[in-house]
Amino acid sequence: MNSERIYQFIFSFGSAVTTALSPTLPYILLCTVAVLADCFTAWQLDKRVRKTYPDKTSKNSGKFKSSHFGSVLITLLQVYLLLIFAHFLHVYVTGSLPFNALKLAAGLVIGWQLWSCLENMSSCNGAKWAMVLQQIMVDKTARHFDIDPAVLEGLTGRRPEHLGDGTGEPMNNGRQRPSAFMATTLKPKPVVILGTAHGSNVPGKCSPDGKFREYRFSRDVIALLKPKLESLGYLVFVDMPSDEVPSPQNTELSLRCRYVNGICAKFGKDNCVYVSIHVNAAGADGKWHLAGGWCCYTSNGRTKADTLAECFYDAAITNLHSYIAYMDEGKHRGEYTEKQNPFRMDRSDGDRDLEADFYVLRHTNCAAVLTENLFQDNRADVEFLSSQAGKEAIAALHLDAIKSLFAK
Ligand SMILES: [Zn+2]
Repeated sequence: MNSERIYQFIFSFGSAVTTALSPTLPYILLCTVAVLADCFTAWQLDKRVRKTYPDKTSKNSGKFKSSHFGSVLITLLQVYLLLIFAHFLHVYVTGSLPFNALKLAAGLVIGWQLWSCLENMSSCNGAKWAMVLQQIMVDKTARHFDIDPAVLEGLTGRRPEHLGDGTGEPMNNGRQRPSAFMATTLKPKPVVILGTAHGSNVPGKCSPDGKFREYRFSRDVIALLKPKLESLGYLVFVDMPSDEVPSPQNTELSLRCRYVNGICAKFGKDNCVYVSIHVNAAGADGKWHLAGGWCCYTSNGRTKADTLAECFYDAAITNLHSYIAYMDEGKHRGEYTEKQNPFRMDRSDGDRDLEADFYVLRHTNCAAVLTENLFQDNRADVEFLSSQAGKEAIAALHLDAIKSLFAK
């Protein structure tokens, strides 16, 4: 057979296949559009996650990568094979039944992809419709974080194989790999999730003269604290690092909890702690008050945060000597009530923490505390908190508390 005959044979074979499969073509087209829509919404979500959590994503991974392109092609091929299979199933097996297997398969694929599109669109999205959808849909935000390979190594005890060792050589050249048992018995890195207080766009939450702002103080303390925690080998996340936060407040708070619980799901809730860093206020009337002092909240009743809260009280007492001196002087000036204690406690149930039904404590899955670091409507407290020494003392207090919990 000469080469012209071969071309003719290939062409006739191709047109025979096309004719046989022609009923599937409209469905193939529709399913392709659905798969591409899913990719597009995933790409948009990726951009949103990168904007919202710049510290958890790297700059060069927002673009389409060849590996993404490859997985899209594989998905499309699987879909096409499913449709072709369904077509032949209909022609030769189920044709007499009152349903069309091809239409059914295409409907399933399109429904699946549209659901995934809606999940992509509602994840990491503060809009009201998105919050409603997220009641029943998966939050895909955490899937778009780039976790440092060194972190994964710390979690599993070895570098994940697919990352290689940078040399292009296979990992563990011939040596026996650590068994799954060994990997699971290695202690994972502790995970600390720091909660910022409020945002620049939240009204109030400042000193009566407006100079001290709670959102700023919380982020300043976290800026001091985070590198110190990381240098101890902990994995540290910040729930809302940006100055502006979504509004209204119930959206903001539920996004914070979603974020924390995403990390808990990824790293194990018993391995995580959440610490929300706030500043107290005695009134919302825009006036100076005489209340002051430091305290730490857990949810009501016995909670898994009680031990962490005890660590916090110990650390507060050892780190706030300079504040105690401030308070003594403030009392002379009449800026506190005479009986004001620098540490506010509730010993009635056998521990020192205060208890309240705070949303971020109740709806997070790991041990969670909220620290109220002095009062933003007390003159002497604000003076202390505004000083560099004050911020450093509050950061050191948090560092010591978290360190002593994980040393237990
Ligand atoms: Zn607050």
